[in-house]
Amino acid sequence: MNNARKNPPQIPPGTNLVDTHCHLDMRGYENLDDTIASAARCGVTRIVTIGIDLPSSIRAVEIARRFNGVSAAIGIHPHNAARTDNETYAKFQALAENKANKIVGYGEIGLDYAKKYAPRNIQLKAFRNQLGIAKELNLPVIIHDRDAHEDTMQILNRNKPFYAGGVMHCFSGDSELALKVIDLGFYVSIPGIVTFNKSETLQRVVREIPLNRIILETDGPFLAPVPYRGKTNKPEYLVFTARKVAELKDISLEETARQTTVNAENLFRFNSGRTLH
Ligand SMILES: [Zn+2]
Repeated sequence: MNNARKNPPQIPPGTNLVDTHCHLDMRGYENLDDTIASAARCGVTRIVTIGIDLPSSIRAVEIARRFNGVSAAIGIHPHNAARTDNETYAKFQALAENKANKIVGYGEIGLDYAKKYAPRNIQLKAFRNQLGIAKELNLPVIIHDRDAHEDTMQILNRNKPFYAGGVMHCFSGDSELALKVIDLGFYVSIPGIVTFNKSETLQRVVREIPLNRIILETDGPFLAPVPYRGKTNKPEYLVFTARKVAELKDISLEETARQTTVNAENLFRFNSGRTLH
């Protein structure tokens, strides 16, 4: 069945959403002009495109420079932690120092004990190093934590305070962890997984934490929300996640969009007034 016909995202006019975490440089976005135009039609006003290593961070910057309303985040994902040296870190610093690069966050960085593409000690070292760089650059941190809650929180607590703030992206813990994340001054980012039937823990998190600490993300091209589960995720599908959050909080889609957009703006302090539409 044709995807576009199945359930075209519908959104009330004037509803503005921010996709705070998408990988626009990855496969699935071969026609970026189309991807971004469709996102704009579906209420997305801004997208933060996230780097996972030096080449993808450079691509993120190139995309941010090309499109109004797109900003970049740069960093080394824990999967890529083993392939990094000091010279690479210096290049990240140089990238971030150029204001025209529209870099609004440092990440994604963190720990991934589910896949273990890099040994733990190397992941830990890369994580600590990059928290330091992010602080020097005064950028909010975008944290990836998969099956590594304890170590992630320990490192974050040892490195606080985070004056520029941060976000736990694609949040995968319970309400107790979410409240600890919020205690650090961080936001909790809700992905499309929240629309899955079996995501009861994440749905409870959304119900139990304050709306003013929630931001939304697609994590595209991964983790498409229902009704596109299993397909390439796109920024235009963010509305399905927003709608689910609204339903869980028993508030309107407009209110959900308004507050999560304010939150994203507070966190990333987008330096360009221009949006996607
Ligand atoms: Zn990601």
